Amino acid sequence: MKNINNHKIKIIAVLLASIFLLGACTLADQDDASKIPQVEDEAISDEEPEVLAEEAIETLEVVETDDLEEDQIAETLDQASTEQVNLPSGLTDDEVAGLIYMREEEKLAKDVYLGLYDLWGLNTFLNIAGSEQTHMDSFKNLLDMFDIEDPADTSPTGVFVNEDLQNLYDDLMAVGAQSLGDSLKVGAAIEEIDILDLQENLELTQNAEIRRVYQNLLRGSENHLRAFTSTLERQTGEIYEPQYMSQPDYDSVVTGSSSRNGSGRGNRP
Ligand code: MN
Ligand code: MN
Repeated sequence: MKNINNHKIKIIAVLLASIFLLGACTLADQDDASKIPQVEDEAISDEEPEVLAEEAIETLEVVETDDLEEDQIAETLDQASTEQVNLPSGLTDDEVAGLIYMREEEKLAKDVYLGLYDLWGLNTFLNIAGSEQTHMDSFKNLLDMFDIEDPADTSPTGVFVNEDLQNLYDDLMAVGAQSLGDSLKVGAAIEEIDILDLQENLELTQNAEIRRVYQNLLRGSENHLRAFTSTLERQTGEIYEPQYMSQPDYDSVVTGSSSRNGSGRGNRP
């Protein structure tokens, strides 16, 4: 009887010690958790406390449980590497980066023009904002086509994932708030930037679908640049001077509208 009681006390002592150790291990895991990448984090934090409990009480099952855990980790890592190989479908890093950046740059144009329309009530801003929405849609289609994550799917007006575009938005809205003339110069500046970025990205891709979108949007941006600069002149008498493009390139856009855009607005009734 005494021996049995002693034995029970020993078992209880071992269990208490095990529980204490389990608690210490779990706390240590929590400290490490922030340093572990997402995939491994799930496998370890979900499985290990259970494994340790079984270890403490029934040591015989530990081998099997460890094997199971290793299998699950291997499977998870396997899935992760498969996903990386499949994404993105056949495009270069430059092509992917260009699509992601341009999607947000078109959003910048739309958001600025909506903001400036609220401030100045000029219909030019509202009309061109509508056009920028179709430019955004064109890039959304390309992102979906190539299975690339969209940086602008949920971000509210005036909020950007890309830090440079966020700063540019903040700066341009501050300038555009100063006067109607400044707001139209902001519009023209955005179109200059858009034209230069579209041209740069066009040179980085041979993909026919992507080139078609860049070329379409180039024509649209040239129209917008002419609309903003002619409205500036009409409203204030001021002749716009390019802020980003070279003077010859700018001149060829502003004066060469009929030769460069044979299918553009000039042919419409
Ligand atoms: Mn645009
Ligand atoms: Mn535009």
